[in-house]
Amino acid sequence: MITGAEYRTSLADGRATFFEGERVEDLPGHRVLGGAVNTVAACYDLFYDPKPGALSPLMTIPRSADDLKARIPLLHQADLLAHTTQQSIMTLITAAGRMPDLPHYGERIKAYVEELQSRDARVAECITDAKGDRSLSPGKQPDADAYTHVVERRADGVVIRGAKLHISGASLAHELMVIPTKAMKEGEDDYAIACAIPVNAPGVRIVDVSYAPRHDDNRAFPITSQKHCPEGFVIFDDVFVPEERIFLNGEVRYAAVFAHSLGLWERLGGLAFMAAEADELVGFGQLIAEANGLDRAPHIREKISDMIIHTTLIRASLEAAVHNCKMGPNGEAFPDELFTNAGKYHGAANYSHMVRHLHDIAGASTVTAPAIADLENNEVGALVRKYMSGAEGVDGEYRMRLFHAIRDLTADAYGGWKQLANLQSGGGLYAQRIVTRKHYDLEEAKKRALEFAGMADGDD
Ligand SMILES: Cc1cc2nc3c(=O)[nH]c(=O)nc-3n(C[C@H](O)[C@H](O)[C@H](O)COP(=O)(O)OP(=O)(O)OC[C@H]3O[C@@H](n4cnc5c(N)ncnc54)[C@H](O)[C@@H]3O)c2cc1C
Repeated sequence: MITGAEYRTSLADGRATFFEGERVEDLPGHRVLGGAVNTVAACYDLFYDPKPGALSPLMTIPRSADDLKARIPLLHQADLLAHTTQQSIMTLITAAGRMPDLPHYGERIKAYVEELQSRDARVAECITDAKGDRSLSPGKQPDADAYTHVVERRADGVVIRGAKLHISGASLAHELMVIPTKAMKEGEDDYAIACAIPVNAPGVRIVDVSYAPRHDDNRAFPITSQKHCPEGFVIFDDVFVPEERIFLNGEVRYAAVFAHSLGLWERLGGLAFMAAEADELVGFGQLIAEANGLDRAPHIREKISDMIIHTTLIRASLEAAVHNCKMGPNGEAFPDELFTNAGKYHGAANYSHMVRHLHDIAGASTVTAPAIADLENNEVGALVRKYMSGAEGVDGEYRMRLFHAIRDLTADAYGGWKQLANLQSGGGLYAQRIVTRKHYDLEEAKKRALEFAGMADGDD
């Protein structure tokens, strides 16, 4: 395994990363992206085990419901890139098991996963293509590059071209797992490409976007200043991929297998995140209600009860997904598709409603509380503290810090990102609805309804 310091050094590998119009020469030392590097490095140190041959617990393959369950608290401690790494490993392993007639890909995937484990490497998930005109399939796009595709086949590999957008942590990773974003039709063979590409491979360029605060005083951003990870606009400008790193190459019938496999693991990670996050929303709601002296008001209690029911159902679906796990052909444990997707959908679809409750409970100071620095001003500091105090015994600064945390979490930099991330990450609400429906036993439900109505076969 590698330490945080070794990780920081590993980023000086010639990668072509850009931020706000400039090429980034020193990622760890960068004024904005450097903070995200620190977060990844801290996670390396957290899980570091110096024993030779030790494996990060996040990079192992779960073999039972207990293994999956034991992973959840680790996910809560892991940074976003550690999440995408374990999701990438599980995506590849899952996909390998779903292509039994193409064992050579399974063998390459196994060898690649072992390589990742031994290097303790970090992987970003490159799925979402630029997509051009959404109403047209990849093969019908006016610009053939709208979806990532093979532009040249050589004896020892392929050359790919295209772009993958919104890729979390891409420029902080070592490897890019590239998979098709959806099913491909006959004739779209060049788009049915899955492979692994080093971040510093010639032809890879990554344009970063980040909501990290640019402020000198981060006390107004207690959450965003700690939790930010750039999203990468990843461009593959004729990138060569050697044969041993290709996991699908033209077999259109399996193009969707990778995205479906990823969806499962991505949504399990999302569900675990949401379960913790929903508890935090309840906690902030109750804390600010107490600070405002309103925790006994009936309508506030009702909203907090709604939030408690929401968080409990998310946690229940997370536990059901793990408890009802299925076993893969090589003894790997997979979370249950129905509970994972239904839970993720429920959490994502209702997130903004829960945030609305929190904003309703908290009041306008959520977005208008003066800065903590204003408390330090000789002229207005004492007055700000006095008028920002709430219920008896609640100090103005304490209440202001709660407001800043709520704004940052739900109504500002991290909050804005979170609204979108909850809805779209893992493929969007529509995708989660489709998968939920696919795994629900609709025939059994119809049978029950007929029985209940006395209309089943054999009933009068
Ligand atoms: C914060 C964040 C992080 C992300 N991280 C990653 C990542 O690490 N890796 C990665 O690969 N992706 C990532 N994503 C991308 C995410 O998976 C996509 O946003 C999601 O799949 C939707 O794709 P899109 O954004 O291109 O939206 P679109 O595909 O344009 O969808 C927008 C809307 O149009 C609808 N739509 C699209 N096509 C059609 C059609 N043909 N017919 C009818 N309706 C249609 C969709 O259902 C949706 O309602 C991330 C997204 C966010 C917000």
